[in-house]
Amino acid sequence: MPDPARKGEKVYRGIPVSGGVSRGPAFILGQVREALPEWTINESDIPKELIRLHDAILVTRHQLLAVQQKVEDAMGSEDASIFDAHLLMLEDQTVLDEVTRVVRQQHINVEQAFHKVVEKYATTLAAMDDDYLRERASDLRDVAERLLNNLMGRPEISLSNLSEPSIVVSHDFSPSITAQMDRKKVLGFATDVGGKTSHTAIMARSIEIPAIVGLKNISHVLEPGDDVLLDGYNGMLVVNPTDQTLFEYGQLVLRQTSAQERLRCLTGEPAVTLDGQRITLSANIGTAEEVEAVKASGAEGVGLFRTEYLFLNRSELPCEEEQYLAYRTVAAALKPNPVVIRTLDLGGDKVMPQTHGQPEMNPFLGWRAIRLCLHERNVFRAQLRAILRASVEGNIKLMYPMISCLEELLQANAFLDECREELRAEKIPFGEEMEVGMMIEIPSAALVAESLARRVDFFSIGSNDLIQYSLAVDRLNERVAHLYQPTHPAIMRLVDMTVRAADKESIWTGVCGEVANDLSMVPLLLGLGVTELSVAPPAVARVKFMIRNIRLSEAKALAKDALTRESAAEIQTRAEAYARKIAPSLFD
Ligand code: PEP
Ligand code: MG
Repeated sequence: MPDPARKGEKVYRGIPVSGGVSRGPAFILGQVREALPEWTINESDIPKELIRLHDAILVTRHQLLAVQQKVEDAMGSEDASIFDAHLLMLEDQTVLDEVTRVVRQQHINVEQAFHKVVEKYATTLAAMDDDYLRERASDLRDVAERLLNNLMGRPEISLSNLSEPSIVVSHDFSPSITAQMDRKKVLGFATDVGGKTSHTAIMARSIEIPAIVGLKNISHVLEPGDDVLLDGYNGMLVVNPTDQTLFEYGQLVLRQTSAQERLRCLTGEPAVTLDGQRITLSANIGTAEEVEAVKASGAEGVGLFRTEYLFLNRSELPCEEEQYLAYRTVAAALKPNPVVIRTLDLGGDKVMPQTHGQPEMNPFLGWRAIRLCLHERNVFRAQLRAILRASVEGNIKLMYPMISCLEELLQANAFLDECREELRAEKIPFGEEMEVGMMIEIPSAALVAESLARRVDFFSIGSNDLIQYSLAVDRLNERVAHLYQPTHPAIMRLVDMTVRAADKESIWTGVCGEVANDLSMVPLLLGLGVTELSVAPPAVARVKFMIRNIRLSEAKALAKDALTRESAAEIQTRAEAYARKIAPSLFD
């Protein structure tokens, strides 16, 4: 690997979030690339400049109408109505009069005049107290960028314009954009900001797109078309890689491919430790289509179905029937293996405008998940009924996210009972024996786990959030990524507390957060008494290999020792040393 950079190449380091190596031209998303041209014009050129403006407005108008139609076809008229506002802005007479005046008085080209005027309005809007007006600033800039592209004959910037396979570079991506990425076109992606457990990163791992986040200002540094090599294992982005670098990466890819081949023979084997402890190794999914990947991975069912992806990228909520079909498909395909369906966890970085309405200052601490569901009863009812009905078709378990106190759990369970009653009254069959569990992802839940354990059939630890909330470290923020410590003694204790409470009530505890596929963490988690791990399908084989090389007695000793330690680093060092000793080939 190139370190330091070889002559002619440049290396940028970020946070590796999805393994793999890819190479391609950079596609910079969402940013004006070249400086705007500026020249002075003669009096006689003024009409020509104004005609250019007029023509560009016409082209932009056509484009906006075409995009509006596309969005309306795909997502309905509500989403498409945003383009009405864009069209109005494009033809706003006050702005156009002012641009004309600037061209006439200052004798500058129309690109400059237009940019100056629009920026003046956008800056004023952006400084307003009113949220709605502030957001209009970015709409205005969007329209302006489109118009400037047309004035300058510059190609439009959007992922749908990706004509050749590329490395996509952007300031950030929302999980919903990531979910739509086409693997044939997006060879890899790199962002300025982000964290390892953001849903964008989780999604990238799931769909196996190599990715790096936290590259600071990479979206400004790179030029479109730059020759980029992206190393998602080590978080390195190499621009203009030399032949030597390419050769070395070729070797790395060969090693990785043959390691994966070797792991493939484990697909049909059980996840059992050397001393006979059976572990349930399941997969995390976000859509029903992933069921084939689950089967191919050798997982024993689904430990976390993130149902919110059914709700994103669309204008209307999925109805009970649509959800029923999705849940039933997964349950039937994996029967008799379990499928843990998590009820809606919208909020945080997964936002759906229809249910949210208000932007929030701290969305991860806000109106999220079960809080939203207990309020939006119709949304919750449709989902609970769909899950209950689908449970006839397979081994479905229902799981609530983000429970912070006993009252929320009691309310959710009471509402679930109401749904059962309704179905009984309507003579619609459902699985009477369906297990109901909850996530432990808020420290308060771990601390009162004993009383929660009496009311559920299982716990699944959501370490992504449990770590962020316990350590007060935003899981999306690369600046505090160094403080996001899975082996923090506080996390060890919270997991221990959860497992003990579960054991007391004879229920099982799993882990479905990203620590479950961290090879150093696997022995620690098993040693702490976790009996189920759920990871993205591509990670199943290596976690299984790890489990099959662990001696539970040793893992317990490791965990016991961890509970006496005072620092994350000490625990991490010991855990990693153990993991490397028992499965060195996984750390190559
Ligand atoms: C978690 O918090 O660990 C979890 C699995 O839920 P999500 O990542 O969807 O918030
Ligand atoms: Mg969570």
